[in-house]
Amino acid sequence: MTTAKLTTANLGFPRMGLHRELKFALESFWSGKTGEDDLLAVARDLRRRHWLLQQQAGIGIIPSSDLSLYDQVLDAMVLLGATPARYGEAQIDGARASLRQYFDMARNSAEQPALEMTKWFDTNYHYLVPEWSAGLHFQANPTGVVEAFEAARSLGIATRPVLIGPITLLLLGKSVDGIEPLSLLPKLLTAYETVLRALVEAGATQVQLDEPMLVTDLAPEWQQVYDTAYAVLAMQPLQITVATYFGALGDNLEIAATLPVSGLHIDLVRAPQQLDAVLAALPPEKTLSLGVVDGRNIWRTEYAAVKPLIDRAVGVLGPQRVVVAPSCSLLHVPVDKTGEDKLPEGLFERLSFAVQKLGEVRHLATADTLAFAANAAHFEEQRRAARPSQVREKLATLNETDFSRPQTYAERAPLQRAALHLPLLPTTTIGSFPQTQEVRSRRAAWRKGQIDDATYERFLEEATAECIRRQEELGLDVLVHGEFERNDMVEYFGEQLDGFAFTKNGWVQSYGSRCVKPPVIYADVHRPEPMTVRWSKFAQSLTSKPMKGMLTGPVTILQWSFVRNDIPESETTFQIALALREEIEDLERAGIGVIQVDEPALREGLPLRKSEYAAYLEWAVKAFRLATSSVKPETQVHTHMCYAEFETILPAIAALDADVISMESARSKMALLRDFKAQGYPNEIGPGVWDIHATRVPSQDEIHSLLDMALVSLKADQLWVNPDCGLKTRQWPETEASLQNMVAAAKAVREEL
Ligand code: GLN
Ligand code: ZN
Repeated sequence: MTTAKLTTANLGFPRMGLHRELKFALESFWSGKTGEDDLLAVARDLRRRHWLLQQQAGIGIIPSSDLSLYDQVLDAMVLLGATPARYGEAQIDGARASLRQYFDMARNSAEQPALEMTKWFDTNYHYLVPEWSAGLHFQANPTGVVEAFEAARSLGIATRPVLIGPITLLLLGKSVDGIEPLSLLPKLLTAYETVLRALVEAGATQVQLDEPMLVTDLAPEWQQVYDTAYAVLAMQPLQITVATYFGALGDNLEIAATLPVSGLHIDLVRAPQQLDAVLAALPPEKTLSLGVVDGRNIWRTEYAAVKPLIDRAVGVLGPQRVVVAPSCSLLHVPVDKTGEDKLPEGLFERLSFAVQKLGEVRHLATADTLAFAANAAHFEEQRRAARPSQVREKLATLNETDFSRPQTYAERAPLQRAALHLPLLPTTTIGSFPQTQEVRSRRAAWRKGQIDDATYERFLEEATAECIRRQEELGLDVLVHGEFERNDMVEYFGEQLDGFAFTKNGWVQSYGSRCVKPPVIYADVHRPEPMTVRWSKFAQSLTSKPMKGMLTGPVTILQWSFVRNDIPESETTFQIALALREEIEDLERAGIGVIQVDEPALREGLPLRKSEYAAYLEWAVKAFRLATSSVKPETQVHTHMCYAEFETILPAIAALDADVISMESARSKMALLRDFKAQGYPNEIGPGVWDIHATRVPSQDEIHSLLDMALVSLKADQLWVNPDCGLKTRQWPETEASLQNMVAAAKAVREEL
């Protein structure tokens, strides 16, 4: 046991506030109800409270500039003068017009579409993608970071400002004019120098530069620039800590360890095995920040598991050179578990949100004896209470045949055609129909107990019946029930499965003001009773057309939840798959002949390193097959994925062996079908012909030509006709107009065949 107290640090605190104050302030500002001063006052108050809270938690190194009004990558673009010219020269130094410019980049405005948004590494946070072009000025604008530093200092807190590091920033963006992003590095570094100099002048002694790209596969030319880039930044009289997180440094370890800076932060939750190699590679004098408290999940840290890592580091480096910290910014976890009084027995004790995690960091750094004893007792009790469930026993008895359908697609297809009486180029939709204001307010009223179950059910039945009537009128071939009973495609299932819990206030930021409250998978997953059969059966009873049953796939349910860390993710996914398999069998028994299992998160679950793809895809595909392979050959299994960029996972998609896959492709003009063709993909495909993310109604001609393009790559009996994604965010008028054009286009193309 080390006895010396170690330095503690935090890499970033959740921004939204315990009561999502920032969200509401932003939305009120955007709607014009409040002004800029009101918004800034809320943000400043939150920032102040978070600093004081971290100070009270005993954290030594506290971040500043982590509270972004929208996104930290957008902040970096503004800070470094790297905002696209189409928005004008943006500055957020308090001038009235400038905050508007800031949000213009984040949100579509009348004049300009917003910057593109994409996932932040393998998290469910989304950042705004920088647009690199030759014309960027890189006029540094350090006012904001200096102001934040000074505001904290006036509270007596000398913060460590957080910035995204230059190489990661360049790699996060995309070239819009063909320029090589790397060629912008010299100008970008000059802007960074200006920012660092301004911080030095304001009295800062440290800075945190985030370089999570160091845990990804980097091309050699990018690996090579790290050292020289940081040599430039290191000329400023500042202690720079380069923060890496979300994985192991791997082949970038030598580069990261030897950067000419004073500290390195590593993720020892995702990659505890890298510690010894890092310790061996670290030059004398350099500080190592140990990310030992999980910043990506909500579970309590087991001190006994982490302490040996800290001890090893202290043994090699001495206590002066070791810092204890969360694995990454706490942006990805909710603020505080206090007040979660509606949780299942025993779950509260197992949780640790941001505030609790800071306490854990302090306990670990001080080797607090009492806290260690309580922690050990908790985990001992957990292990004592654990007993194998029936689900695990069932999973253990599965064999190969449980993971595949007995007939090949070629054998199934004619049977399905005969059973379903579908024309060539069958038309369908992806599942949800408009969730109108009325649908949402009825649900809210029912949840609050203002209307009773029977009244709510009757409302849902009416909405479903109306939706089916409209689909019949439009002449669609495979109908859906419309998903009016569902709030969210994961929550709806989580609420009905054992093993899931819901917090009252466990919000995390998804993007901008948007927050999600992921379900918590805390125990073995089991389906106590059918989940969707009632609605599918009701819907099928209203029509003679085939009704498509609608389920969310096992990988997507896993990806959009907080997942237990005491068993492998693959095992939890198989448990969910088993529950879905039972559901699918029940749907089939209830007369549902087409069943869609949505897996939009299959691709986003890909690990950060290519070397880990295969292992992930293997269990992800197996889980889907476990869920879907027990049906009769006549029963048609569909799947749906949202985004394009399928090249890397095409073999895995083929391995799902779904009879039909639908996906987004209207915007990319069917480009991805060429890949499907090249791979000889044999099953049926519904490439989206209506970009539902745009409010525009696509014309019949436009859809017609997309279908013609699709037929270049696909055989006619492979092609389905459907929108890109679900329609829940659309309005009825545009929905009906678009579907009408879609059905007409399908008919016209059929006649030309
Ligand atoms: N069935 C879902 C819907 O239509 C699919 C949503 C999705 O792909 N994200 O809403
Ligand atoms: Zn979709």
